[in-house]
Amino acid sequence: MSLVADRLNRISPSQTIVISTRARALKAEGRNIISLSAGEPDFNTPDNIAQAAIKAIAEGQTRYTDVAGTPELRKAVAERFRLDSGLDYTPEEIIVSTGGKQIIYNAMMATLNPGDEAIIPAPCWVSYPDIVTLAEGVPVVVPCKRENGFRLQAEELEAAITPRTKWLFLNSPCNPTGVAYSAEDLRPLCDVLLRHPHVWIFTDDIYAKLAYDGFRPATFVEVEPRLRSRTVTMNGVSKAYAMTGWRIGFSGAPVELTKAMNKLQGQSTSNTCSIAQAAAVEALTGPQDFIQTMVDTYQGRRDMVVSMINQAKGMECAVPQGAFYVFPCIEKCLGKTSPGGKLLNTDEDFVTALLEEEGVAAVHGSAFMYPGYMRISYATDTQSLRDACTRIQRFCESLL
Ligand code: PLP
Repeated sequence: MSLVADRLNRISPSQTIVISTRARALKAEGRNIISLSAGEPDFNTPDNIAQAAIKAIAEGQTRYTDVAGTPELRKAVAERFRLDSGLDYTPEEIIVSTGGKQIIYNAMMATLNPGDEAIIPAPCWVSYPDIVTLAEGVPVVVPCKRENGFRLQAEELEAAITPRTKWLFLNSPCNPTGVAYSAEDLRPLCDVLLRHPHVWIFTDDIYAKLAYDGFRPATFVEVEPRLRSRTVTMNGVSKAYAMTGWRIGFSGAPVELTKAMNKLQGQSTSNTCSIAQAAAVEALTGPQDFIQTMVDTYQGRRDMVVSMINQAKGMECAVPQGAFYVFPCIEKCLGKTSPGGKLLNTDEDFVTALLEEEGVAAVHGSAFMYPGYMRISYATDTQSLRDACTRIQRFCESLL
């Protein structure tokens, strides 16, 4: 009898972690490696937030809290939803978990029966298909065309819906493309969803505050309040407040689903860290100006990276509206041979050779269910980014 359960054999380890691990190993060997593969801000958590955690420890806020999070934090989350998007969630409709990732996991485990389908527009975040599979659901990956700006179109959604569809995932701004949806972009999708009342919507808004050139990402419930009764609006502090390690994510969702997620969480992790929760209250209710400073920095880096990548021979890169990723097309670089003599048949061959030969770590598009592309994270200091882009240009120039 095998030790590992069948359900674990159905999923794969995160490809982004595989690349980051290889990059770290090369670094340990003394190689000069620039990592553009991580999905986290390079900023430190603002001091007022860190101080709130220290205060919480000093005051003895070190015990179990309600499974769904402290009343203070749920109230702060409700207020943020209201201020940021005009969403009206009561504290009973809010649950706080160990990162947005646990919210996704809880929602899928709490709702999917074997064979239920979840529509996932691609390119997509690496974890959605695996979490759905782990919950015994069926990921239905819908490739979104580059000519449509990688945005899901109403007719593509309509065609993907079946009687077994339980969920539609939408991630805006998107990891890995950085593409975001405006209210006008969401409207036709809302109209399709109104015609299919059995479909629930999981909107992953984790990058919502990281948007550029004044673009304002919209979220389903503000565009179409009639979808509120079947939508999970997910957000968290990881990206907007540079708090990836604190592990705080949250959602607003109808009470029935929130209760189900609470039940599951109560028999797995219970509440997330009480100290991190106290810090998150400060993040959500304290000064917000840090975010604009961070956004301005990201925007400058995005512009530099897009411009330098578009000067790399064979690469084509659009200007995304948000997050901290660009997703250039590398198809014209494939089928060639690297300076080190490697045949680059696939995007994975390309990023592997780029890492081994030029010391730049990026993630291949196939990891995001979209071959022929690669993801570059620009959550790295500007000098390293410039050096990395120069290396990418040199690598592309020398392909034969
Ligand atoms: N959703 C997307 C699209 C992400 O990129 C990430 C993290 O990389 C998450 C959710 C989860 O974030 P966390 O669990 O840190 O809140």
